Amino acid sequence: MLVTLAGVMPDVDGLGIIADVAHSAYSGEENTFYYYQHYHHYLSHGWPAAIIVTLLFGCFARRHLRTMLLCFLVFHLHLLCDLIGSRGPSPGDIWPIAYGEPLFRHPIFVWNGQWRLDGWQNKIIFTTLFLWELWLAAGRGYSVVEIFNRKVDAIFVATLQKWRTNLLGKRNSL
Ligand SMILES: [Zn+2]
Repeated sequence: MLVTLAGVMPDVDGLGIIADVAHSAYSGEENTFYYYQHYHHYLSHGWPAAIIVTLLFGCFARRHLRTMLLCFLVFHLHLLCDLIGSRGPSPGDIWPIAYGEPLFRHPIFVWNGQWRLDGWQNKIIFTTLFLWELWLAAGRGYSVVEIFNRKVDAIFVATLQKWRTNLLGKRNSL
């Protein structure tokens, strides 16, 4: 659970979008996405945040070293995925990874081949991983839903297992 959370922690710096939407709704002014534009990818998309998340999550873990290592790795997997596939709609909207921020301006990583956040590459990767996760969940008896609620996860996994049994049963009877 901690490792999964560590993988999404970099995007905490994008939560300014909530303040942007709230401010725009409250004031009636046009939403300029000020906080989102200023802080997303700068506060927690570098090694300083990676170290904080790794140490903090390691404290909550029973197997400290193993959890810390995996947290550090998935945090960087997030950064790698952002580097290769988080571009905006136009080709110039490449999003750099400011790896030293917020402490240091450098190094900054940019990849010119960065594909769109909503590009087909991400859709294929998402769909493949999502289906794989459902398959694994049915086999293992727990899924990513357990992060939110264990009881709901049990219901979710039981449904998946029923589907899988039906699917395999139909295939066997062919
Ligand atoms: Zn990110």
